[in-house]
Amino acid sequence: MTNMKAQAERWGAELYTEDVISVNLSQRPFIVRSSEREVKTHGLIIATGATAKRLGLPSEEQFWSRGISACAICDGATPIFRGQELVVIGAGDSAAEEAVYLTKYGSVVHLLVRSDKMRASKAMQDRVLTNSKIKVHWHTEALDVIGKEQMVGVQVRNNYTGEENTIPARGLFYAIGHKPNTELFRGQLELDEVGYIVTRHGSVETSVEGVFAAGDVQDHEFRQAITAAGTGCQAALLAERWLSSGGLIQEFHQTQSEPTPESTTQPQEEIPPTEFNLQKTRHHGGYALRKLFHESDRLLVVKYVAPGCGPCHTLKPILNKVVDEFDGRIHFVEIDIDEDQDIAQNAGIVGTPTVQVFKNKELIQEWKGVKPKGEYRQVIAGNL
Ligand SMILES: Cc1cc2nc3c(=O)[nH]c(=O)nc-3n(C[C@H](O)[C@H](O)[C@H](O)COP(=O)(O)OP(=O)(O)OC[C@H]3O[C@@H](n4cnc5c(N)ncnc54)[C@H](O)[C@@H]3O)c2cc1C
Repeated sequence: MTNMKAQAERWGAELYTEDVISVNLSQRPFIVRSSEREVKTHGLIIATGATAKRLGLPSEEQFWSRGISACAICDGATPIFRGQELVVIGAGDSAAEEAVYLTKYGSVVHLLVRSDKMRASKAMQDRVLTNSKIKVHWHTEALDVIGKEQMVGVQVRNNYTGEENTIPARGLFYAIGHKPNTELFRGQLELDEVGYIVTRHGSVETSVEGVFAAGDVQDHEFRQAITAAGTGCQAALLAERWLSSGGLIQEFHQTQSEPTPESTTQPQEEIPPTEFNLQKTRHHGGYALRKLFHESDRLLVVKYVAPGCGPCHTLKPILNKVVDEFDGRIHFVEIDIDEDQDIAQNAGIVGTPTVQVFKNKELIQEWKGVKPKGEYRQVIAGNL
């Protein structure tokens, strides 16, 4: 990803890691607004993807990120799930993939399938059905999650026999499909009944000229990285054609030295885990965290990540920018929960990314998942 970003920048792309909060497609140029800027554009490519759906179980809120998760890849490696029985709900490729992935960490993975068959591809079904650590429960639906401080089981019902029972489990992972992220465009672009952006057959053109949609936001059928990348390429070529045909294109000529906004905000110092210097802002690993916890007189910001966790990658440039803004006034430590399992367990980490803020050794704030830059900035600034 870093190489891809660097290449895009070399060709003139300016990268901003910000949430778009509104778009106006009723005027030209179109207007795209984030909390930090307003961009006017003659062409727009939408690639906002789709978000995992929730089931709405009665105790879902209580156990969300404390046992229930919608991303096994992000949260499966957390200490509370290791060696435990886990439950996955779903019958498609994602459910199959997540169940197989979780067998690396859980003792048994129970897969709850609503009917008597899976929708997953034949190859994925084979991987599930031949895996001795996966137990498939056909015709089975989840009713709720039980537990007090932590989740201890999932109540289920067989919708064929009506029989109810409890599967003892410490983790429940949803893999029940996605909702396209298209709220910003509702009423401005043609959407289908589920909310996916409608594109012309065999193309990525939307109902508004000059607006293109790529990836999962317009694809309810394949939803794969390779198809997202392919439609992204189509969108880029069509946007370029659209701008050229209207005489709107502005050519970029490469120069050697001009840094773009995002590249200037990347942290300059990368600290190898074994070196420790109290004066530096950024640190890595459990050793540094222990030292800082006892020796630092600054606000301490700790980020917990896991290998392969997508949202951790999303958070990285967002938090980097905030940490840079407070350079020399805070300490920042990154903990890989796979490398530092004890630390993660002691800190009660149940999902990644998690960010904790300590003041005088007291935990004053914890964020789970990715938040807008302003939220991190506000808490840090308010506690310096
Ligand atoms: C568990 C799992 C396993 C998978 N395994 C595979 C696999 O093995 N092979 C494969 O090919 N595919 C796989 N996929 C599918 C693949 O990840 C997706 O198809 C692909 O990531 C879609 O890319 P996208 O760019 O359309 O959307 P996304 O990757 O979802 O990216 C959308 C981006 O838009 C951002 N965004 C949304 N709204 C806003 C806003 N208002 N402002 C700013 N940014 C916004 C989001 O934060 C996100 O970063 C898997 C998916 C899952 C969930």
